[in-house]
Amino acid sequence: MIELVRRLAMGRGRALALACVLLAIPLLPVSEFWITVGNFIGISALTALGLVLLTGAAGITSFGQAAFVGLGAYTTAYLTIAYGVSPWLGLMAGLAITAVAAVVLGLLTMRLSGHFLPLGTLAWGLALYFLFGNLEALGKYDGLIGIPPIYLGTVPLDTGRKVFWLIWAIVLVSTMLLENLLASRPGRALRALKQSEALAGSMGVDAGREKLKAFIVAALLASVAGWLFAHMQRTVNPTPFSATASIEYLLMSVIGGLGSVWGALLGAGAVLLLKDLLQRLLPLLSGEVGTYEVIAFGVTLILLLQYSSQGLWGVIARAIPSGLGFAVTTKGSAGEQLAERPKVARNTTVLSVEAVRKTFGGLIAVNDVSFDVKAGEIVGLIGPNGAGKSTLFNLVSGALSPVGGSVELLGNRTRSGAARSIARLGVARSFQHVKMDPDMTVLANVSLGAHSRSHCGYISAMLGLNKREENAVVDDAWRQLKLLGLSDCGLRPGGSLALGQQRLMEISRALALDPVLLLLDEPAAGLRHAEKMELRQVLDQLRSRGLAILLVEHDMELVMGLADRLVVLDFGTKIAEGRPNEIRQNARVLEAYLGSAG
Ligand code: ADP
Ligand code: MG
Repeated sequence: MIELVRRLAMGRGRALALACVLLAIPLLPVSEFWITVGNFIGISALTALGLVLLTGAAGITSFGQAAFVGLGAYTTAYLTIAYGVSPWLGLMAGLAITAVAAVVLGLLTMRLSGHFLPLGTLAWGLALYFLFGNLEALGKYDGLIGIPPIYLGTVPLDTGRKVFWLIWAIVLVSTMLLENLLASRPGRALRALKQSEALAGSMGVDAGREKLKAFIVAALLASVAGWLFAHMQRTVNPTPFSATASIEYLLMSVIGGLGSVWGALLGAGAVLLLKDLLQRLLPLLSGEVGTYEVIAFGVTLILLLQYSSQGLWGVIARAIPSGLGFAVTTKGSAGEQLAERPKVARNTTVLSVEAVRKTFGGLIAVNDVSFDVKAGEIVGLIGPNGAGKSTLFNLVSGALSPVGGSVELLGNRTRSGAARSIARLGVARSFQHVKMDPDMTVLANVSLGAHSRSHCGYISAMLGLNKREENAVVDDAWRQLKLLGLSDCGLRPGGSLALGQQRLMEISRALALDPVLLLLDEPAAGLRHAEKMELRQVLDQLRSRGLAILLVEHDMELVMGLADRLVVLDFGTKIAEGRPNEIRQNARVLEAYLGSAG
């Protein structure tokens, strides 16, 4: 049995094997009851799959998925009953209406942050539920009856057994499409977004667009589930599309495991079987009728979160060596290469900071600071704690907007606060506090760096048409890992690296952007001596390739040894600029450092 699970979960054969098993079920002497259970599991799994994308990858919690299921169900129910159209037309219409609703709702809610976003989806779920229940044309709370079955050619899928095939074929195809999606460029972008918008922005990811796309895909999956539901039940009423149902879908994806598409299938099965069991058992125990299973679900959820944040799939995946997170291409093809930016001639001014200013309330964090960085030059930005180094750094990378002054890249003034477009111009950064997806492999984390150099969208990722580009991205990521001495760690989860290695990983990721300007915020913090020496060599090498590097660093020995020039900040003001040996003897600098040497 373990061996079977292991084989199912590994390699390309996994989906095929699962397909054979599932599609054979209706041919076996399985009772109608279990076929129906299987159908409900499949339909729920489709909706839960959308949540693996939306909540699992992008970190967006939606309490409104059941409303999208309802939209799909009611559209096809109404059209097939009132106008006698084919259920397939009903499907198309349902998808179209769902897409429009998701775009409108997404534009309204995806900008909301924190708790407002889930609340927005909850409001939508409740509103649509009451709409279904109050429209005369939709039969109010009694709903609609007499929905025809789906026809495959001339064959009506009018029994549970027949519709089982269609449901599970759709579930399996969707699972594979989504798995492809999550393992490539759009999936990495979403997972970066979940970690931090600053990280995603610094890699050139358009946060709003990516979130909206994930929201739409999740809604469409729910809509298809609704279509199947309506034609299987042959009747619809508002109850299965309530907020309670939305919570159940969330539960399925969490219980199954948000880290994997297979978790959705597992979760849907577990929740529905458990619900059925509890609905029979609990009234016997308590002697009363009620929805006690909700309490049991809550307890299960808490236990699972306690013992396996990866859900049931996490438990299984732990038993399988390759079951870690989303699958990812691990070997390049040594064929195609990613396009590189035109190289900038040595000594060209790459970055020009002109009288840039930033205040936080009454505090002047950066006070009219100006300096340049040229191609093939390392400029060190130093100063005591709180001098404004990180703030200046964030002004350059676009993570913060200045209140005055300008930042120019290769002669072009950057739009303030536009981290994404600045990244696309070839500015790559690391973070003072490492930002990455600890569950993704180091390789996948570094591949995120190539986001702005690659193009693969949802459709080509889902259909696996992106293999050439993906191979080139992975090739490039391996190259950067090798440069920083991390090639042995490529297939480990990012979170398993030591702090020093995590910093080096951030530099690899920044290099994957093929930058003209590299911004490093304290890259040597937490590095051991040998690692520092290695870092020094790498930065030397990058400089000789003509890269412009701005380095914020506390380690004086390192920064003095590396930098061509130093810019010294104190209380937000530039107090000195010059070669390391000049700075070493500068009276104002010595005073600033001694003054704060506490
Ligand atoms: P450094 O990186 O040189 O240690 P920072 O740029 O982090 O210094 O901080 C400069 C000053 O600005 C500090 O006094 C800090 O407390 C303040 N500061 C930085 N970020 C913020 C913020 N988001 N809100 C308010 N004050 C901030
Ligand atoms: Mg700092």
